[in-house]
Order: sequence, then C-alpha cells, then structure tokens
Amino acid sequence: MTYSSDTQNDLAWYRDHSVTTQPHCPNCGSHHIEQKNHGRRTGGALGSIAAALGTFHSAGFNPIKDSGLPVSTSPTAILGALAGVIAGCAAGAALGQTVDETLLDNYRCLRCDYSFQTPNR
Ligand SMILES: [Zn+2]
Repeated sequence: MTYSSDTQNDLAWYRDHSVTTQPHCPNCGSHHIEQKNHGRRTGGALGSIAAALGTFHSAGFNPIKDSGLPVSTSPTAILGALAGVIAGCAAGAALGQTVDETLLDNYRCLRCDYSFQTPNR
C-alpha cells in the first residue's frame, strides 16, 4: 500500500485538528466512507415477515389456512397487524444494526476500499 501525497496531507490535517465527529477511514483517514448495513436491511426484512406472521396469527387470521376468506379479520385487526409489522421491522433493523456494528465490517472506504468495523476507534 502506497500513500499518495494527498493522503499524507489528510493524515497531517487529522493530526492537527483531531476532528473525530465525522466517521473516517482508519487506513487512509478519508471521510468518503459508506455504510453497508447488510445486517440492518436483512434484519428489517426478517423482522417484518416475522411480525406479519405473528400478528396475523394472533389476530385470528391464518394466512395459510384462511387465505381468501379473511372473515375474522376486522379493520382494527388489520391496523394492529400493520403496526406490528412496522414494529417488527424496526426491531429487526435494530437487531441487524447491532450485528452490523459488532460482527460485520460495516464501513467501507470509498477512497482505498478498506472495510472496517467502526470508525473513530
Ligand atoms: Zn481509506
């Protein structure tokens, strides 16, 4: 790995200013990083599905057995199910975010393509 003079200037700038509020690459110091959020996206999707199945079931509606005949499903139950799905998505996303931050290299530097777990540490 060779550093360009631009990178060296960046590193000198960080030493001088020690700005740590913005996430930056621990390899080259660039602010041009992206969050992958694989776990967050996956968790949100799985949470939605799990919540949908769970809330429809608890509302007395079995999407497999009663498909096409939602006689026991009131508008209130549907709203409750939707609220459950939203909550499930949020819970799944929060869980996924934890996975991102603790297990995966969630950040990728757009300058040097270095993947890392958490910035500023
Ligand atoms: Zn970098």
